[in-house]
Amino acid sequence: MTTIDYRQDFPILKTRVNDEPLTYLDNAATSQKPQAVIDAMADFYANGNANVHRGVYTLAAQATDRYEAVRDQVAQLLNAARREEVFFTRSTTDSLNWVVQTYGEQFVSAGDEIVVAVMEHHSNLVPWQQLAIRKGATLKYVGLQPDGQLDLEDARKQITAKTKIVAVTQASNVLGVTNPIKTLARLAHAQHAVLVVDGAQAVAHMPVDVQALDADFYAFSAHKVYGPTGVGVLYGKYALLEQLTPAQFGGEMISDVDWQTTEFAAIPERFEAGTPNVCGVIGLGAALTYLQRVGFATVQTIEKRLTAQLLDGLTQMPGITVYGPQTVADHGPVVAFNVENVHGHDVATGLDLAGVEVRAGHHCAQPLMRYLHVSATVRASVGFYNNEADVERFLTALKSVKEFFE
Ligand code: PLP
Repeated sequence: MTTIDYRQDFPILKTRVNDEPLTYLDNAATSQKPQAVIDAMADFYANGNANVHRGVYTLAAQATDRYEAVRDQVAQLLNAARREEVFFTRSTTDSLNWVVQTYGEQFVSAGDEIVVAVMEHHSNLVPWQQLAIRKGATLKYVGLQPDGQLDLEDARKQITAKTKIVAVTQASNVLGVTNPIKTLARLAHAQHAVLVVDGAQAVAHMPVDVQALDADFYAFSAHKVYGPTGVGVLYGKYALLEQLTPAQFGGEMISDVDWQTTEFAAIPERFEAGTPNVCGVIGLGAALTYLQRVGFATVQTIEKRLTAQLLDGLTQMPGITVYGPQTVADHGPVVAFNVENVHGHDVATGLDLAGVEVRAGHHCAQPLMRYLHVSATVRASVGFYNNEADVERFLTALKSVKEFFE
C-alpha cells in the first residue's frame, strides 16, 4: 500500500516559524487550507464573481449554480433529508445564535429549562444563558464522569418535562470526548424538547448523519473542515424550520414586499438575508470535495495513530496532567494537559520558540475550567496532515520547556 503525502497539498506546512519548521498542532482552533480550496476561491474571484439569486445574466446564474451546488454537497455530507434543511451562516457561533434567536425566542418561556453540558464551548452556552436570563428560564448543566465523558445518568436527571432545549457538543474541544448524541436525542424527544448539536469539532473528523443522530439542529464552521473562515452551516429539520420566523430581514429573503407587509421567500432563502459569503461557500465546497477524496477512513486512521502517540508521550512524562480520557479508545484528536507549576501560556510560548503551535488558555470553555478546577490548559490537536515527526517535535520541545522551568 502506498501512503499519500497529504502535506504537499497544504502550502503553509512549508512555512518556518522562529527559524524552525512549522509544527501545527492547533487544528481544533482552525485547520489549514489545501491548495484546492485556495485555488477554488481565487478562481471564483478571478473568473466567476457575481452576486447570487438576483441577476439574470450568465455569470450570476453560474455563481448561483456553484453556490447552490455546495448546499447539495453539505446536505449529502450530513445526510439531510432535504437540501432545504441546510443553510449558510457565518460560523458555528452564528448558527447557534440563530437557533436561539428564532426557535429559542419563539418557544422558550418563563419556567422552562434549557439543558447544556458543562463541557460546552461558550458559543453553545452563552447564547442559551442569555436567552434563559431574558425569558426567566433555567439553564441546567449535565456533568462529567471521572474520566471526562458526559455523565448520561446525570443527563437523565437534568432532562425533564420542563426541558425545551437540550444543546450539546458532539465532540469536546478540550476533553477529546465524543458525546452519545443518539441517546441524548431520545432523552430530549421523550420530553418533547429539541436537540441542538454543536458539530464544530466533529465534522472534520467523523462521518455525520443528522438523520441517524436524530438531531433537530446541527451547526458547524467551514474553517475547521479545511475551508475558509466566515462561513458556517446550520442544518434544521424542515418541520421545525417551517415554524420559525426569520431573525434577520432584508434582501434575498423575501418573495414580495408591500408597503406594510412582507411575504417571505421559501426555505432556505428565507433564512439567508443579504448577500451571502459566496466565495467562502465555494471554498467550503472545495474543502468538502477534498476531504471526501481523502476519506474519513484515512482521516481516522491517521488521527487515531497520532492521538495515541500524543497520549502515550504525555502520560509517560512526569509532572503532566492530561484532562479527559487517558487512553486512545474513544478519544478524539484533541488532548488538553497542564505542566505542574507552569502556566499554560508559558508552556505554549516555550513551544512556539521551537515552531510548535498549540493553544493555551480556557479554550472558550470557562465553566469547564471551573469544573476541572483549573484556570487554563494547554491543548494539542491534530489533523490528518500531521505526522509522527510533528508529535515527536512537540514532545521533545515540551520536555525542554519542562526542564527550563524546573
Ligand atoms: N463549538 C466548539 C466545540 C468549538 O470548538 C468552536 C470553536 O473553537 C466553536 C463552537 C465556535 O466556532 P466558531 O468560532 O467557528 O464560530
